[in-house]
Amino acid sequence: MLIIGLTGGIGSGKSAVARCFSELGIPVIDADSVAREVVEPGLPALKEIEKRFGTQILATDGRLDRKQLRKIIFSDPQAKADLEAILHPMIRTRMWELANRQTTPYVILEIPLLVETGQNTSVDRVLVVDVPQQLQIERVCARDGMSPQEAATVIAAQISRQRRLDAADDIIENTGTFSELQTQVEHLHRKYLELASHNPA
Ligand code: ADP
Repeated sequence: MLIIGLTGGIGSGKSAVARCFSELGIPVIDADSVAREVVEPGLPALKEIEKRFGTQILATDGRLDRKQLRKIIFSDPQAKADLEAILHPMIRTRMWELANRQTTPYVILEIPLLVETGQNTSVDRVLVVDVPQQLQIERVCARDGMSPQEAATVIAAQISRQRRLDAADDIIENTGTFSELQTQVEHLHRKYLELASHNPA
């Protein structure tokens, strides 16, 4: 099974691209959804997080209080590193477990931090969705109601556009319409099916 890692900066269009692949019948395993799933009550991740951060990170219903946790790690790099050391391996394991269950010729792993976390080397191909920063800011502001300054700050905290592009095997330029985006995805879909047919593993 061919594994494609889909990534891109905030607001580049990862979700839009993922939707196009889904519509073509290709499973998309999304790191953000898996990250929410692994911290469900009763699963080992939440216990580990509670051990590290105390019951202050639990909401009254026993679920993870994400807002509280975000507040803690925002100002404490060690806390952030500890949290990631707990979560990242669990997210990774779960994503590969889900991927290996699929019966399609290829699957998409949607991982915003694919390059930052070095997972670009574990997938067969890296697909980067790319937009110029101005358009990225406009789309983030329209989607999330941020100011252009806030959007620029988030973008500046992410890996640079160039470094992400350097890791890419395939690039989708998402500067056009949704229909143009769909066409690019269909083109890649044919390419991935072709590659998968030569990749018996
Ligand atoms: P990401 O998942 O990378 O953060 P999204 O797929 O959510 O990005 O796209 C960011 C915003 O831009 C969304 O509101 C989305 O609807 C919009 N968008 C994405 N691609 C296009 C496009 N080709 N044309 C117009 N708007 C787009």
